[in-house]
Amino acid sequence: MIIDCHGHYTSEPPAFIEFRKRQIVAFQESSNVPEPPQISDDQIREKLEPAQLKFQRERGTEVTIFSPRASAMGHHVGDAKLSAAWTRICNDMIHRIVNLYPKNFIGVCQLPQTPGVPPDNCIPELERCVKELGFVGCNLNPDPSGGYWKEPPLTNKWWYPFYEKMVELEVPAMVHVTGTCNPAFHTTGSHYINGDTTAFMQFLTSDLFKDFPTLKFVIPHGGGAVPYHWGRYRGIAQDMKRPPLKELLLHNVYFDTCVYHQPGIDCMTKVIPSDNILFASEMVGAVKGIDPETGHYFDDTRRYIDGSTILTAEDKKKIFETNALKVYPRLAKQIQHQGIAATA
Ligand SMILES: [Zn+2]
Repeated sequence: MIIDCHGHYTSEPPAFIEFRKRQIVAFQESSNVPEPPQISDDQIREKLEPAQLKFQRERGTEVTIFSPRASAMGHHVGDAKLSAAWTRICNDMIHRIVNLYPKNFIGVCQLPQTPGVPPDNCIPELERCVKELGFVGCNLNPDPSGGYWKEPPLTNKWWYPFYEKMVELEVPAMVHVTGTCNPAFHTTGSHYINGDTTAFMQFLTSDLFKDFPTLKFVIPHGGGAVPYHWGRYRGIAQDMKRPPLKELLLHNVYFDTCVYHQPGIDCMTKVIPSDNILFASEMVGAVKGIDPETGHYFDDTRRYIDGSTILTAEDKKKIFETNALKVYPRLAKQIQHQGIAATA
């Protein structure tokens, strides 16, 4: 079975996007909160069928671990109340999609984070999504300020109550920033990659995983700059008298394959053990086009794993399937519950 651990709902019906705009305007003008949009199942199908579902079919990936559009989480927009209302609507929409297409998607939740507000306030929504909606993980934003990095690092005790709940519920977090309001950054080009790289460096300099030996994070987008600079990070750890990275981090930190060319995947698979890599594409959205050098979509990442001459068949199976089952302990049960079966 091929499990894509990183997909976002980026094919929302226009009414959903319009609602968010009205919600923000209502906040800014202190006017009445608009009613959530009435969206029919057909409106959802109409947008999803020619996008995520079509690509799943064409590329032969069975199931996508699916969360709300990351760039639209907008934790820095409005206040905690607005973030909570928006998050709930987004997560409910994912749940609806999972119910419409139980063979294709498994839910992961957005969290109602807000700059300056301790992440304890995300615990009820995490519990609701996991216990009531059958979600298997969450997206945790290390920078709810949207590009100004005002929160304590992910290794600070500020985050600990939330981690305790993650451990209790047996759910990992994908470290995932949202859109940036800092004009120095481009959302998917630099802000996302900065978020990934920054989280890794925070983990490297701390004893977080001594405090939480079973806590698990997926660093997406191929781990940002990490695999390419693995030598630098190993060297920094050594200079700081830290344990070797494998011992320090690789029981808890995983990387996905959202790297959009073969040489990038080859570099990653040479330096990161195959036990720590999860298949993902982040389709549809981050990069939409076709690579003129290959004639294939940049985000058709299955091709790079299939085409790898570095990975063995056993490595590929880990990356496509078994690592995801290990990192998301609730996934196997959810796959069974939703009746998902390998098609190949
Ligand atoms: Zn993403």
